[in-house]
Amino acid sequence: MAASKNDAKKKPSVAPIQIMDTTLRDGHQSLIATRLKTEDMLPIAGKIDQIGYSAIEMWGGATFDAAIRYLNEDPWERIRQLKKVMPKTPFQMLLRGQNLVGYRHYADDVVERFIDRAILNGIDIIRIFDALNDMRNLKTSFRATLKYGGKVEGALCYTVSRFHNNDLFVDLARRLEDMGSESVCIKDMAGLLSPYDAFDLITKMKAAINVPIHLHTHDTSAMAVSTYVKAIEAGVDIIDTAISSMASGTSQPPVETITRILQGEPRDPKLDMNLLTEIADYFVDVRKKYKEFESDYTGVDPRVLTYQIPGGMTSNLALQLSEQNALDRMKEVLEEVPKVREDFGFPPLVTPSSQIVGTQATLNVLTGERYKVITTETKNYLKGLYGKSWGPINEDIQKKAIGGEAAITCRPADLVDPELEKAKKELEKELKSVSKNIENVITYALFPQVALDFFKNKSSAAKKKTVEPKLAMEAPVPLLAPSEYNIKVHGETFQVKVGGMGHPGEEGRPYFIYIDGHLEEVMVDSQLEVVPSAEGRIDSHAGGRSTRPKVTHEGDVTTPMPGAVVNVKVRPKDKVKAGQVVLIIEAMKMQSEVHTSIDGIVKDIYVQEGDKVNPDEVLVEVRPEK
Ligand code: MN
Repeated sequence: MAASKNDAKKKPSVAPIQIMDTTLRDGHQSLIATRLKTEDMLPIAGKIDQIGYSAIEMWGGATFDAAIRYLNEDPWERIRQLKKVMPKTPFQMLLRGQNLVGYRHYADDVVERFIDRAILNGIDIIRIFDALNDMRNLKTSFRATLKYGGKVEGALCYTVSRFHNNDLFVDLARRLEDMGSESVCIKDMAGLLSPYDAFDLITKMKAAINVPIHLHTHDTSAMAVSTYVKAIEAGVDIIDTAISSMASGTSQPPVETITRILQGEPRDPKLDMNLLTEIADYFVDVRKKYKEFESDYTGVDPRVLTYQIPGGMTSNLALQLSEQNALDRMKEVLEEVPKVREDFGFPPLVTPSSQIVGTQATLNVLTGERYKVITTETKNYLKGLYGKSWGPINEDIQKKAIGGEAAITCRPADLVDPELEKAKKELEKELKSVSKNIENVITYALFPQVALDFFKNKSSAAKKKTVEPKLAMEAPVPLLAPSEYNIKVHGETFQVKVGGMGHPGEEGRPYFIYIDGHLEEVMVDSQLEVVPSAEGRIDSHAGGRSTRPKVTHEGDVTTPMPGAVVNVKVRPKDKVKAGQVVLIIEAMKMQSEVHTSIDGIVKDIYVQEGDKVNPDEVLVEVRPEK
């Protein structure tokens, strides 16, 4: 219907294909769990800048969270540092609409200020999507990007289900153009788009809209190169690739391959192969440093066409499962994902819906009963707080999650009060000097707990050098001191050095200890005062009980999976009813409520906020009233 306004544009474009490089964002997000540090980007950044990419994607997505959660890096500083050495090529970031770079809907004032500062620091183009393709969730970020002088690339999340087809995606593209997109992105975050579907979709889209079409896909099923070739034949304007040593599998296809395929053809991007090779060599070495973050799930896996888990999610899911010591359940979790997705009305799986569905599927498998534990995010999703899904939601599960409540029908962010002032006051109370910087306030508004830890870490200046265990272990864990000391036994002195520890088994936890230079494996029985945290540190139960009793009574409240206590909802001597929430636990970045299963009185509490907890430990003791 809208084709009439652009008849002149119907012929496939013969301009050289434009290429965006994703190595510094999606490439490492998809292959090494977003761990690439700025210090490993800077030495090669100048060369990447010389290639002639249409843009460099280097921010957004999971990079913000990962920088403060794992890397002890200020994400805002990354833009500034890279900009200094990459002045030529536009910077692009990925933004989750009203979710920004987080997992929930933020208030409009946070969205506006975040985008303002991102552009001010050097972001040129913002790719904006909503996980549910709910256009209402894009409004504020579109408006803010245009207001502060950025370019909007509206993105539609591509997915496959009986509720999705190409005509519908073309219609979405039209709406994105109408809302002010300067280019429209087909975001195929799981690599589901087949070459022939791509040809059809792009042909139709070219006839329907005037702005450039940008295709983003992943090579998980190894179709991506052919998908790009067919898309290029149909006239797509821009495609996403990564440098070969950070490409393929769950990442984007290699830029070198595309360049070679198009050599001498009308759409040849004419990139400098020698320079590309230099960059590829650099990342061959750098990638080795991040070996521990490579999972078994970053290679080619055509099963993605069934499970529909996006690139970054697969490797993160594997990492999360290994932290839960349950990597062997990966297959069951992957099979549970499509079932949960159907219950949820077939949302495209992309952050945050991929995390919500993925974590719920993990809980459904690990707890041994579907929806026995329902995360707060699942609850909010089923309440409509993330927007509207295109397929119908399983009403039984919705009822189980939100009871008799009705789902909302307005734009979700309309229900979120302004948050920035509140965040500033909270941060001021905790860290006054830190709160004077608006970027810190935004960081805090996005991830309060993680941000606080990050700021405190940073201010305790002397960046603690963690001990890197050199032994082969499932998940290496740096140790808290003392790791080296002398002991005297029967008058003889031995030099002891703790190398690291492994995962606990039935006989306890193996410790790897050097005694006078000889390696010994020592089994330590499980009642330890230290437990490894999700981040691989070892935290003592500071302020809490050193040992928690094992679950023996019906009123003993424990956690369904290893995690951290976010909130203790009861006090000793409180009267509680069966089903009442007593704790909020965070595991795998999602929060879950923990309930008491009996009526009674809170007799004892063995945890406080921030404590790391494990199943089978009593966290709260509830006893029947006498
Ligand atoms: Mn992607």
